[in-house]
Amino acid sequence: MTTEGVPLKGYRGRFAPSPTGPLHFGSLVAAVGSYLDARAAGGEWLLRMEDVDEPRAVPGAADEIPFALERLGFSWDGEIIHQSRRKTHYRAAFERLRLDGSVFACACSRREVADSALGPDGAPRYPGTCRNGLPHGREARAWRLKVEPGLVCFDDALQGRICQDLAAEVGDFVVLRADGYFAYQLAVVVDDADQGVTHVVRGADLIDSTPRQICLQRRLGLARPAYLHLPAALNAAGEKLSKQTRARPIHGDRPQAALVAALEFLGQQPPADLPDADLDDLWRWAIMHWDRSGLPHRRSAATPAAYS
Ligand SMILES: [Zn+2]
Repeated sequence: MTTEGVPLKGYRGRFAPSPTGPLHFGSLVAAVGSYLDARAAGGEWLLRMEDVDEPRAVPGAADEIPFALERLGFSWDGEIIHQSRRKTHYRAAFERLRLDGSVFACACSRREVADSALGPDGAPRYPGTCRNGLPHGREARAWRLKVEPGLVCFDDALQGRICQDLAAEVGDFVVLRADGYFAYQLAVVVDDADQGVTHVVRGADLIDSTPRQICLQRRLGLARPAYLHLPAALNAAGEKLSKQTRARPIHGDRPQAALVAALEFLGQQPPADLPDADLDDLWRWAIMHWDRSGLPHRRSAATPAAYS
């Protein structure tokens, strides 16, 4: 399964962090994994700030993250894309869905949906209340995509075949939110297509989003990239690292140590003296020895204590 020495023509990968706080170990792992998979294949690697959820974006983080990546020795291709500046593209995709009848206006409040039946994962499933028109006297809040019954499947390069019955497990899902922002699922699909992304390598905390994204790609007639979901980094309490769980920021003062920790997390086998190498040599080793077959086949794994 190694990509070493096998140039994949037209490989274009990306790293797409949400600027909700400084870079932490979980995002570093996704950055390192996506970067090495792209570079080992002779591919491009793009950087995108996923700030479509503008109320959650932290001022300064969208500048801080690229700065941190630079200090860690990453180099990306092209301009950094910001979702907050791409609303006209999301609007155009939404209008296509609206014109072909794929979406409907929904009047339900968050509370009303939360009170409805739960899907198998325990999250509320939209019960279809407004699917055939708004209830009398109610006003549109959000817009939802109509999902059809049946499995949506994809073959993940690491996690194997993943299937989800969107109608049974999620229900019709939001593409334009009640607060006027486009949903993450729609933005990601439009961005990956517009940027010509061929390979999505990201944390497995996003694996359950992938069938919704595939559903949107089909409705919009967009190409589907190949997916590889890396284990997500968890803290000692078993929570995904985030600003909310007070994950430690990755500082640029010891970049080699952080990068070697990420390589080990990804099942690569860095030599004992790699933390002492200069950054260029470290990256040269990591690209040359990138081995997909070393990646752990798990959805999550513990973060090293120094970074959790
Ligand atoms: Zn509704």
